[in-house]
Amino acid sequence: MSLTTSLGCRRVALMLLALAAVPARADEGPAMVAHQISASAWYVQGVSALGSSANRNFISNAGFVVTPAGVVLIDALGSPVLASRLAAEIRKLTPLPITHVIVTHYHADHIYGLQIFKALGARIIAHRAAKEYLNSDTARLRMESSRRDIAPWIDAATRLVEADEWIAGDTDLTIGGVQFQIKAGGPAHTPEDLLIYLPAEKVLFAGDLVFRSRIPFVGQADSRRWIAALDDLLKIGAKVIVPGHGPLSQDARTDLQFTRDYLAYLRASMGQAAQNMTPFDEAYAATDWSAYAHLPLFGAANRMNAYNTYLLLESEGR
Ligand SMILES: [Zn+2]
Repeated sequence: MSLTTSLGCRRVALMLLALAAVPARADEGPAMVAHQISASAWYVQGVSALGSSANRNFISNAGFVVTPAGVVLIDALGSPVLASRLAAEIRKLTPLPITHVIVTHYHADHIYGLQIFKALGARIIAHRAAKEYLNSDTARLRMESSRRDIAPWIDAATRLVEADEWIAGDTDLTIGGVQFQIKAGGPAHTPEDLLIYLPAEKVLFAGDLVFRSRIPFVGQADSRRWIAALDDLLKIGAKVIVPGHGPLSQDARTDLQFTRDYLAYLRASMGQAAQNMTPFDEAYAATDWSAYAHLPLFGAANRMNAYNTYLLLESEGR
């Protein structure tokens, strides 16, 4: 995620707002409620906002599946304090240990809690394409800015945690008799996107390939392949989708379509501009954003999504 530079001012403004309403350290922060999705699957839902001290970076979802052999987590949330809270929520439901964490992708809000689950003995599984990000300046700078923006919840002790098992492609895993179909969806939202499907319960954990109730974060994504991946997902027949952000979807087709249509709209509007060599500012101002302008994070993310798409389409056109 490279929101920091262009959002610097906004971040500062949000931080000041957060400081104005700074919660006492003993305060619980935003509510975390485990919602049951199917016989064995659950999820917790983050808030639709940018990460801040006030929300402790609880801006993404995490899922978990209780199998007879242990609990399999999908994503680790955005700070160690949230991960500890999630572990406590799981403990209320089962005495079984958390044995695995499957990481949908290595964006800060999904992985800064990993160290807690690692310490609890969980085996971390991710796609090997994430190694490049883990060793990048982007990851290091992101951590530095998070230590400032989400203090004290992200601090000097918060660290990036590598997977114990790097997978290279689609992988089937059976844990406690429950089948997990792990699908490599990238490069789409990120090179390392993983999606986790429980065929017996028709539940899909889609990571950030699916956003609901907010403007998606596009960043450096490959939107052409992302759209293709969503078209593939439309075929697998999931009954329920847990998106990376926003509420559970019981209407897979409509909700997959929302992210897909948004990406397609960015590509159509910015592609035309790039092709005509219309300057970005002019093209952005002339585009009709009315279908999206009311959604959370439009102000924070839409312009940059459009700009990145403009650059991407310029390079695709070359
Ligand atoms: Zn992400």
